[in-house]
Amino acid sequence: MTNVPLLDLKAQFAQIRTEVMPLIESVCASQQFILGEHVRGLEEELSRYCGSEHGIGVSSGTDALLLALMALEIGSGDEVLTSPFTFFATAGAIARTGARPVFCDIDPLTFNLSATALQLFIDAECTEGEHGLVHRATGGRIKAIMPVHLYGQSADMSPLMAIARRHGLRVIEDAAQAIGTEYQNGTRAGSIGDIGCFSFFPSKNLGAFGDAGLCTTQDAELAERMRVLRVHGGKPKYYHAVIGGNFRIDELQAAVLRVKLKYLDGWTEGRQRNAAFYDRAFAKAELGAGVGRKVVVTPHAVPGQRHIFNQYIVRVERRDELRKFLTDRKIGTEIYYPVPLHVQECFAYLGYKAGDFPESERAAAETLALPIYPELAEEQLAYVVASITEFFKPS
Ligand SMILES: *Cc1c(COP(=O)(O)O)cnc(C)c1O
Repeated sequence: MTNVPLLDLKAQFAQIRTEVMPLIESVCASQQFILGEHVRGLEEELSRYCGSEHGIGVSSGTDALLLALMALEIGSGDEVLTSPFTFFATAGAIARTGARPVFCDIDPLTFNLSATALQLFIDAECTEGEHGLVHRATGGRIKAIMPVHLYGQSADMSPLMAIARRHGLRVIEDAAQAIGTEYQNGTRAGSIGDIGCFSFFPSKNLGAFGDAGLCTTQDAELAERMRVLRVHGGKPKYYHAVIGGNFRIDELQAAVLRVKLKYLDGWTEGRQRNAAFYDRAFAKAELGAGVGRKVVVTPHAVPGQRHIFNQYIVRVERRDELRKFLTDRKIGTEIYYPVPLHVQECFAYLGYKAGDFPESERAAAETLALPIYPELAEEQLAYVVASITEFFKPS
């Protein structure tokens, strides 16, 4: 039986092994492990790749979000608008600064934060005060919007940026899944808002050999603030006007990422090719369920944008049953994410309840990630589609 793991990074390692191992050896020989030439080189190469003026390498995507919030001086008494349908770190980072995450529902087509829902929330629940937007129910100051470019597709940034400008809000893009993602006219994720936050967790399109991340910005002053906060706020060293943390990226990780960056566009093309294969094969399988209804809804790639397919997400009927069926056939799948953040136990204090964000809840119940990594063979992709077809159309 064909075996199709959700992700297999060994094939990728085989491709870069002879290039990356001597580089690791050379970093070890230099014993320069902290903020060395590879960190500087990576920051320059990645900021250029992302269309931003400045890049600040950090210890993880989570720390990128935390550092961005700290640099924008967001904390106690402040509130940040974001999506409840995302990885935990998005709202976790907001809460860790002492600020309050405030959720607005998603667009069911793209799974990204809905600008319409955001505007409705502001119109219905907020008042324009002397010092900016106030959330009437809590008295908190709304300071920022944190859209997430989920699965590798850009959130609809134009209306979100317009709302931010209208109300004096900062924008932090959670671009953890979106390295090289393009919004309209080739504008890259992370280059649009005040700060872009990237993750190089191994399962992201550009993955380190461990944890790493990056903040991008067009603003030299914000970039400098993040560089200082990255080293405990010390400037000069051992003199602290502000309290930062240790948010440094490792030199070893930077060296690995510089090698991988050269291959990234090729790998992204591989993912896009696999996504196109699935799209065609599912269309051909005609898994309809009556008039206008499909039992497998393939991803909606917004025309004119570049989707990098960190994940290929289908919306399906009988999701959990299908997942078990595929597991038995040695096909790896995952649910990103099964519990929307507004109903997570740790956020009970925010006072949300099930039913508050129906599109996020429906997405959490219906979506399934299929294997999409670039090294998959067509035979494996075909086996995935054939297995799903068999589940819905038993012969
Ligand atoms: C991966 C991810 C993060 C966190 O990145 P880490 O590097 O794992 O800390 C944050 N937000 C989203 C949307 C992610 O997918």
